[in-house]
Amino acid sequence: MSITELACKRVQELTPYQSARRIGGNGRIYLNANESPECLHFDLDSSTYNRYPECQPEEILNAYAEYAGVKAEQVMVSRGSDEAIGLLVRTFCEPGKDQILICPPTYGMYSIAAETNGVDFIKVAPTEDFQPDVPAIFKALEENSIKVLFFCSPNNPTGTVIKEEILRQILEKTQGKALVVVDEAYIEFSPEMTMVKLLNEYKHLVVTRTLSKAFGLAGLRCGFTLADPEIIGLLLKVIDPYPICVPVAQVATSALSKENIQNMQNRVTELNSIRDEFTKECKKLSYVTEVFDTNANYVLLRFTDSEKVFNEAKKAGYILRDFNDKPRLKNCIRITVGSASEMAELLNFLKGLN
Ligand SMILES: *Cc1c(COP(=O)(O)O)cnc(C)c1O
Repeated sequence: MSITELACKRVQELTPYQSARRIGGNGRIYLNANESPECLHFDLDSSTYNRYPECQPEEILNAYAEYAGVKAEQVMVSRGSDEAIGLLVRTFCEPGKDQILICPPTYGMYSIAAETNGVDFIKVAPTEDFQPDVPAIFKALEENSIKVLFFCSPNNPTGTVIKEEILRQILEKTQGKALVVVDEAYIEFSPEMTMVKLLNEYKHLVVTRTLSKAFGLAGLRCGFTLADPEIIGLLLKVIDPYPICVPVAQVATSALSKENIQNMQNRVTELNSIRDEFTKECKKLSYVTEVFDTNANYVLLRFTDSEKVFNEAKKAGYILRDFNDKPRLKNCIRITVGSASEMAELLNFLKGLN
């Protein structure tokens, strides 16, 4: 038997997550991973690097709880929110028996976390306006053994925010049966849309967050799960013993200081205004057929010929994210909002394609 044949069948058959880094591409301006255009500076203290860290460093839990308006016992910190997605699947789904539910087009990690853990995923297409299709979800819940439902708000890549009354209908139906996860990786770009306020009302609601996007710390790998302490306790049975390195804890704690939260909010205000200006100009381009309404630091555009735009942009050094092959997103490209000068340059280039 070859080494590959020794591997689990599901791993042999798996297509791993196509992250921006994995897809690669060499350019000058990277607008393909929804990262912050700005890199922040932090000082480190190496005096305890010989010791293992706390599994859940208290100062981070306290700082994030205060920022998010929850209690520290409602917070788990993990190696990015991607780790939290995997933990939710492993903790609540019996492989080969239970399923997760997703509404594509959405973030790709939910189905991959399911696949790597031997858990099936049920796809329920969203409605015309990219909201969860409630009757179709209820039907899927009746016909399967769904344990975790994943919703992304603002949704990557469409930018759509889930409506509260729709989430409430789903929460009412799933009480005592399944967890409802709302992935709020981009919520800082539209903070008033958070569903955190429903946590105390619904014990089976989970909100995931990250420092990777608005906080500008994708390289840090630090994410958060907000949920009832009972859910947090179960996830902490499954998490690795030392997920948060000491330097990560130091940077995360500093990033969550009052001053740095204010700095983050100032950057968000600036990026949102760059985004609004950029989308306004894109609407004027003759070969742009649709500009999705967005609540995040990216915008999804539909073109008459996205392949041409994507390839020409790449040749010119702009690395964008192609969604042409995803359901309902024919000819769509997602563009991360970069700095003012990056977006002005890209706009200039797009105008030249006309
Ligand atoms: C980027 C992203 C994440 C990943 O966050 P990490 O904390 O960097 O793992 C999670 N969810 C969505 C929707 C994202 O776009």
